[in-house]
Amino acid sequence: MKKDNDKNKNKKKIKTLLNVMYTLILLILIGVMIFIIYKIQKEGNSEENKLTYTQLLNEIQNGNVEKIEMTVGSTNLKVKIKDVEKEKTAIIPSTQVFMELVQAKVLENNNIQLETKTPSFWAQLPSYIISFLPTAIMLALIIMLFKMQGIGEKGEIYDDTERKTKVTFDDIAGLDEEKEELIEIVEFLKKPKKFTEMGAKIPKGVLLYGKPGTGKTLIAKAIAGEADVPFISMSGSEFIEMFAGLGASRVRKLFDKARRLAPCIVFIDEIDAIGSRRSSNNGAESENNQTLNQLLVEMDGFSSEETIIVLAATNRPEMLDKALLRPGRFDRQITIPPPDLPGREAILKIHAKDKKLAEDVSLYSIAEDTAGFTGAELANILNEAAIIATKNEHEVITNADLDEAVKKVTVGLEKTSRKISEKDKKLTAYHEAGHAIVSQFLPTQTSVKEVSIIPRGMAGGYTMYKSDEDKYYISKTEMEEKLIALLGGRAAEKLVLNDISTGASNDIEVATKIAKDMITVYGMSDVIGPISLKDNDGQLEYQMFGDDMQDAIGKEVKRLIDVAYKDAQEILKQNMETLHAIASELIAKEKINEQEFNKFFNN
Ligand code: ATP
Repeated sequence: MKKDNDKNKNKKKIKTLLNVMYTLILLILIGVMIFIIYKIQKEGNSEENKLTYTQLLNEIQNGNVEKIEMTVGSTNLKVKIKDVEKEKTAIIPSTQVFMELVQAKVLENNNIQLETKTPSFWAQLPSYIISFLPTAIMLALIIMLFKMQGIGEKGEIYDDTERKTKVTFDDIAGLDEEKEELIEIVEFLKKPKKFTEMGAKIPKGVLLYGKPGTGKTLIAKAIAGEADVPFISMSGSEFIEMFAGLGASRVRKLFDKARRLAPCIVFIDEIDAIGSRRSSNNGAESENNQTLNQLLVEMDGFSSEETIIVLAATNRPEMLDKALLRPGRFDRQITIPPPDLPGREAILKIHAKDKKLAEDVSLYSIAEDTAGFTGAELANILNEAAIIATKNEHEVITNADLDEAVKKVTVGLEKTSRKISEKDKKLTAYHEAGHAIVSQFLPTQTSVKEVSIIPRGMAGGYTMYKSDEDKYYISKTEMEEKLIALLGGRAAEKLVLNDISTGASNDIEVATKIAKDMITVYGMSDVIGPISLKDNDGQLEYQMFGDDMQDAIGKEVKRLIDVAYKDAQEILKQNMETLHAIASELIAKEKINEQEFNKFFNN
């Protein structure tokens, strides 16, 4: 390995030297050009040899001129004055003006000999250079572009990704079963012979499925770290190129490098960017196909003696071309789920190691409040908390800093300084109180934790609910009640203010998506039945059932939403007094917590 590193260092030195030489040659060329232009301009241009146009006319009139030499296209004339040996240069305003003189027979009448010449190459050089300049600039720009695309110095783009990583399995919290499965890969990389001697084939590719931020890159790095092999990585989107064929050439280069460094890990993030299902040969699509084909060729190409393991990550497994999943390619697939409660606590612990936490901070209770959060989001919460604590000049990170960090990550930054009109305040107060009250009466919905009308992120106000326990399934009733809770805000606006606002747009968007999924993905409509109506790309696929099905889907979505909206209004109508009371409290205090909210329901 050391040899490889030395080789790379030498290569880098040579490249730097070549670059310096390249720049020097360019500078010298530019210098020579400037010198030539200067020389040619200067030639014969010394003051005593020059004639202005008026001086020339005077000399002609006085009968002193013997001969004039004119070069086609030039405004400089060579003038031979009688009894003067050295020719002078006359500068005329334009060739046209001079031609008029000729036509008026001025030269003929004064016995002046006229000689016309075509310009020599050297005389024309400056104009050649000037006309070539734009082309040269264009060429230079194109070369620069190619260089940026990595054509010029192929391979260099990967240089910073071939380092060995220090990440190990200890840096990954939770995911115990997944780690168990991957330890095998580490063994393959460490002792490939042990497996091949037994006749076992070393796996070539492992696909990691999971939401962004669940730790897929971390796992790939940890495998390389545990096996102490180089980690070469590239993102699928980097293969998508402006120039046709470049994507495929990058794949080739990536694997050339892997072969040189084997045993090693090749990690391709966002593989769906190149690995999505191949389609007809048109434009961008066909470029994508070429890249994918090259990847398949490379994966088929290396033998099991070359211990290269390709790990790829995606959060859209349904998009992948089936050819990628065949034996000998990515035949192992591992799902990386968002962490469960113990997983979240463990991740928080890892990321809290280098942070100063107050003694009473309970990472467990943060883990409880953050169901559905990914590892990256949890790491982000702790980082935000540290920033908030520093801003607040706290000695250590307090529970309040952590609370604020959770809200900042989920809803956005609190915007206390934004001026809000009384009218908007009232509208937001009723809207949020509407959500909170409605969900209080829905058994499947979690209880309210905080209601606020202080703008945060994009929201004018927000209602925070207690986090749900981790669960794998959501029932139909739960989804229906979620729709009611979502529409509680709009229902309150309508009932109290007899007008509705744009503030509910996000609620409506989310509610409509849930209703659509209930019908087309989860088969929860009695009218349509348990049929999946979406294809692998998430597109509606009702054609095979005819137009009636399209009508039925539309009607069912509308029915679900209408029923939920009516139910929300019903709950609020029966709790009008509470709605007014909570909205007034919100207008007065701007924010109410769980206890303050619950007081309204305790008598
Ligand atoms: P993407 O799909 O966006 O590339 P990813 O799944 O590859 O995301 P990573 O980049 O590996 O996610 O994770 C981002 C960061 O989140 C990691 O660097 C790490 O700090 C943290 N993280 C995620 N999962 C875990 C975990 N299980 N244990 C510890 N830290 C984690």
